Amino acid sequence: MSLLFTDAELGDGRVVDVRVEGETVSAVDATLERRPEDEPIDVAGKLLLPGMVDVHVHFRQPGFPHKETWATGSRSAAAGGVTTVVDQPNTDPPTVDRDAFDEKAALAADSLVDYGLNGGVTADWAPDSLFDRPLFALGEVFLADSTGEMGIDTALFADAVAAACGRDVPVTVHAEDATLFDESARDRSDADAWSAYRTAEAEASAVEQACSVAADTGGRIHVAHASTPAGIDAADAAGMTCEVTPHHLLLSRADLEELGTHGRMNPPLRSESRREAVFERVVDGTVDMVATDHAPHTRAEKDTDIWSAPSGVPGVETALPLLLGLAARGEMSYERVRELTATAPAKRFDLSSKGRIEVGRDADLVVVDPTAAEPVRANRLHTKCDWTPFEGHEAVFPELTLVRGEVVYRRATDTFGEPAGKNVRLL
Ligand SMILES: [Zn+2]
Repeated sequence: MSLLFTDAELGDGRVVDVRVEGETVSAVDATLERRPEDEPIDVAGKLLLPGMVDVHVHFRQPGFPHKETWATGSRSAAAGGVTTVVDQPNTDPPTVDRDAFDEKAALAADSLVDYGLNGGVTADWAPDSLFDRPLFALGEVFLADSTGEMGIDTALFADAVAAACGRDVPVTVHAEDATLFDESARDRSDADAWSAYRTAEAEASAVEQACSVAADTGGRIHVAHASTPAGIDAADAAGMTCEVTPHHLLLSRADLEELGTHGRMNPPLRSESRREAVFERVVDGTVDMVATDHAPHTRAEKDTDIWSAPSGVPGVETALPLLLGLAARGEMSYERVRELTATAPAKRFDLSSKGRIEVGRDADLVVVDPTAAEPVRANRLHTKCDWTPFEGHEAVFPELTLVRGEVVYRRATDTFGEPAGKNVRLL
């Protein structure tokens, strides 16, 4: 049995037929002769895109299954057209040694989508034990944070970058320099106080420090959730890559009155003028990719004062749909959406079977009706946390999502496939 998608628009002007045999794309051409074993799927007028590779999610297991699980997080991913996720290490236990990696890997067997697992760096990490496992990367290593539970100093950061680069493991960095936070904002209690406290200057400074450490060790780093034009430009100037989240692309401090403590995340929302400058850099190619930093917390956890609320917002299900919404309105090309969500992350992180609809690559596919724009509604999403900072934003959700040739989500019936996700470092 094979699937034959006919008259698929690839988003770059090309209209093709695409055949899927087993887990992979076996043919792409203007027209493919239909064979008896082909099951045809007419997608005329629709986009066929490579599934999103989201290199930054927090699926919260082990440790915090009341916020999200591999089952609920991966359903949310599949419904949003995300076919590969990369989970960050700040779970409980943190993924800093072999045993913790193995515990998480066992839980990830519940995933509907393919996944990578990042290792973490803490004062008591065990590099030899950790690097013994198929890591995706060292994940959002938190440089220059004096307060966070996973923050490390520059010396340990340099050791970690050297150790990872020596083993060809990528390093992604959470770049905020806590010495540049504005302590005077601590007197305030409004939601905007978080943005005033974690200053824009703290990001560019940390990006510069991280890039200079990477240059000293001959390594390359990837800057997670860049939120300011200065941070993006610093990474770009140093020849490093960066990702931007949908919330830093679409939301700003102007939204905090409405979002309240639900709009608290790290790095925080920035001014509207900085958001616009970030948007320009996403469109013009300075920013390499979009990643969600999907970081769910329950409403009850978020409904407290701004200094006590946990940082983070959900986003894995809405990222690609929001970008498709922008493309449908002409604010970004479909080609750029494809590059930001699939091609670029697959290339940067050496996923040679992902990111493109090409013969021999995994059939990680998303079918989209570009005319089907609708407002985001939390009650239609599948994340366990049951809310979204993008309520009411126009989005185009996928009709169908396939991972390695298997349908994992069908929007018409709101039904999911079986969990069969694999560690992409073992594919
Ligand atoms: Zn994160």
